[in-house]
Amino acid sequence: MSNPIINVTKTYLPPLEEYSVLLKGIWERGWVTNFGPLVLELEEKLKRYLGVKHIFFVSNGTIALQVAIKALEIRGEIITTPFSYIATASSIGWEDCKPVFADINPDTLCLNPRLIEEKISVHTQAILATHVYGNPCDVETIEAIAAKHQLKVIYDAAHAFGVQYKNQSLLNFGDISTLSFHATKLFHTIEGGAIVTNDEELAHRISYMINFGHNGPENFFGLGINGKNSEVHAAMGLCLLPKIGDIIRKRRELSTLYDRLLQDLPLTRPIISNDVIYNFAYYPILFRTEANMLIVREALNRHNIFPRRYFYPALSTLDFLQIQNMVVAEDISQRVLCLPLYHELPYATVTQITQIINDNLRCG
Ligand SMILES: *Cc1c(COP(=O)(O)O)cnc(C)c1O
Repeated sequence: MSNPIINVTKTYLPPLEEYSVLLKGIWERGWVTNFGPLVLELEEKLKRYLGVKHIFFVSNGTIALQVAIKALEIRGEIITTPFSYIATASSIGWEDCKPVFADINPDTLCLNPRLIEEKISVHTQAILATHVYGNPCDVETIEAIAAKHQLKVIYDAAHAFGVQYKNQSLLNFGDISTLSFHATKLFHTIEGGAIVTNDEELAHRISYMINFGHNGPENFFGLGINGKNSEVHAAMGLCLLPKIGDIIRKRRELSTLYDRLLQDLPLTRPIISNDVIYNFAYYPILFRTEANMLIVREALNRHNIFPRRYFYPALSTLDFLQIQNMVVAEDISQRVLCLPLYHELPYATVTQITQIINDNLRCG
């Protein structure tokens, strides 16, 4: 009766033979890192797949955020969302800027643009918003506010790989978008991330910033850090990229099954606009109360099923950032749960999960 362990996600690994072919090439060339042919090939293919002008493959999604802040020369306050992974806000603090939270929209769970302007001070220099679960922020309103107040815009698009908004890549919005290719993400390179921009000058700055600031072996453009990624990581991305369409299709089918089996229960889901072609990166559900969520989680855990509280706690409750009262984000974070969703998840397990939720919501 007891399941093997079912986690919220499972890393897609390509057939080992396919990965080995690329590793063999790396061994033959003896070129393992520093902008080798696989890194450049991955960047080219990602540019084409995602429909963006410049992309830099870096060591993770957190360094991507940090470099974005540095490249835009942001100092001071950054208005951001309390409902995201910790890296969104901690990268702001790590760059010696101050995260100033604005609450989220209870329907989309993304930063609520109507609450941004009241947070703007003379020290505000940027907006850093997350496309939560791959669901686009209200990019038009955010960018109108940014233009009016001369603020930079960074999107944390760690969840938004391949998402289209109004027939173009969501990554085309803002000054810079960042991606994470961590093993838990939809598209991954084990560890990895990317910085995306359509601005030539910014692209040039980023290109040297991620390589210690080098301009040739003995010259420097300026301050930099080590943001590079390796041939071995690029090889994983090159194996995965041709399969991503099938992976997304499978996740869509699993999500549709969840939708159907959960439709009569007292649960809600984030609202995704009809202008979006979604990537099915996550399957979040919102319970009526935290107590309901905890009862269901406990029951799932007893069956070896481990959903995750993405995102709990609200970042605005963390004392090493800035404690700020964010009513909506705190409420949502207490009653949200992301259900298991990955390419290999059996349909029967989706049925079992929804059955357990059903049993425990009715008697709870
Ligand atoms: C995963 C994630 C990050 C961090 O990416 P890493 O590659 O793990 O450093 C940043 N922001 C969000 C929203 C994430 O989910």
